[in-house]
Amino acid sequence: MAENELAALYQVHLIDEALLTMKQRATVLDGGKSIRAEFESLKSEKSAELKALADLESGIATAEQKAKDYREKAAAIERHLFSGKVVNPKEIAGYETEMAQFKKMADDAEWQGIELTEQLPEVKATAMVVKRELQKLAKAYEARQVSDREEGKLLQEEYKAKQEQRGSAAARVSKNLLATYDAVRAKMGTGMGLVAGKACGACGTNIPTKMLEIVREDKVASCPSCHRILFEVVPSA
Ligand SMILES: [Zn+2]
Repeated sequence: MAENELAALYQVHLIDEALLTMKQRATVLDGGKSIRAEFESLKSEKSAELKALADLESGIATAEQKAKDYREKAAAIERHLFSGKVVNPKEIAGYETEMAQFKKMADDAEWQGIELTEQLPEVKATAMVVKRELQKLAKAYEARQVSDREEGKLLQEEYKAKQEQRGSAAARVSKNLLATYDAVRAKMGTGMGLVAGKACGACGTNIPTKMLEIVREDKVASCPSCHRILFEVVPSA
């Protein structure tokens, strides 16, 4: 009975390795969290560049609005002056002074707007580099969310199918051997060590010749160091 049992256990071992790989693949699926984090850190790291553009744009808008308001005020005074309602020379002089002040303020605001606008191309170019990078990350995040969700689903189905396979493969191994194997597996992650040359392929410990002979007779032997059940894969012709 022992001659096929180790080979049967080896099949279980292969399935367990596949299950392990799937679990590892699943841990890489984060639904895009890592990209999201990259996005957030870039955003905060480059916040000064983004703020500079926002500030400049609002500064330009404010200056333009001010210039417009002052010009309207000056125009209103002018209309009033020519309405024929103001006749007192002193009063006229007062309105004219006021009108000149508003015009001057409008000019100043306009000039300020022009100066700010001159800075715009450079500030905008810098901010656009950041914005494009952020856009790229945002897109990658979305794509990753979708692909991780899909892969997660597939992986789950694959895992379930493999688990079922394991059930039928394990049924071909005796309870005792399976229990030994599972105990080692619980401790070491894997339960079987494949003989590689004259060593345990899992931990690298050299296997005594006597023990190798036992393994070659398809009998149960455990690695003296890691206690994994030894098995030698005979290459098929
Ligand atoms: Zn070992």
